[in-house]
Amino acid sequence: MRVVLLGAPGVGKGTQAEILCRKHSWVHLATGDMLREAVSRKTPLGLKAEAAMSRGDLVEDQVILGLIDDKLDGTGGSGFVLDGFPRTLEQARGLDAMLSRRKLDLDRVVCLTAADDVVVERLVGRGRSDDTPDTIRHRLEVFRRSTEPLMDYYQPRSILRTVDGVGEIEDIHGRIESVLGE
Ligand code: AMP
Repeated sequence: MRVVLLGAPGVGKGTQAEILCRKHSWVHLATGDMLREAVSRKTPLGLKAEAAMSRGDLVEDQVILGLIDDKLDGTGGSGFVLDGFPRTLEQARGLDAMLSRRKLDLDRVVCLTAADDVVVERLVGRGRSDDTPDTIRHRLEVFRRSTEPLMDYYQPRSILRTVDGVGEIEDIHGRIESVLGE
C-alpha cells in the first residue's frame, strides 16, 4: 500500500510509520529524517534547510519535492509510508503530480490526532534540538496553518481516515491497521 501519515509534530507518526514498514516491508519515507541527515553531513541541502528547521519553520516546498521525487524512484514497486510529507497544499499537489507520472495512486491518508497538551508533553520528553518550548509552540502553529488544511484536500477522495493517536503504541498501531484494511 501507499500511505500518507498526517498529524501534528509529536503525535507519533515516526513510531507508527516504522512499525508499519517493518511489518509489511514497506519503505519509510520521512522528510524530517532525510533533512536531519543532510544537516549532519553538511550537504548543500542540509546547509540550506538548517535555519528553517531550527526555527521550526517549514523548508521550501521545491526543496522538499525534489527530495521526495528522488526517493520515490528508490521504492521500486513496493509500498511506502510518507511520514511528515506532504505538509502544505503545494506539496500535496506536487505529490499527486509525481505519483501520476509514475501511474501510482495513494491508498490511504491516515490522520493521527491528539490534544495539544499530549503532543507538547511528548515533544518535551523527546528532547530533539528543535524541541524547545518556543519552537514547539511555533511548529504546532505551522501545523494548524499549513498542514491541517490538507484534510480538506484529501476528504473528497474517500482515502482519508482519522485515527486516535492517544494510548499505547500497539493499540494505535492496531487502529491504523484496521483503517488500512477497510
Ligand atoms: P519532522 O521530523 O517531521 O518533525 O521535521 C523536522 C523539521 O524538518 C520540520 O520542523 C521542518 O523544518 C522540516 N521538514 C520536515 N518535513 C518537511 C516538509 N515536508 N516540508 C517542509 N519542511 C519539512
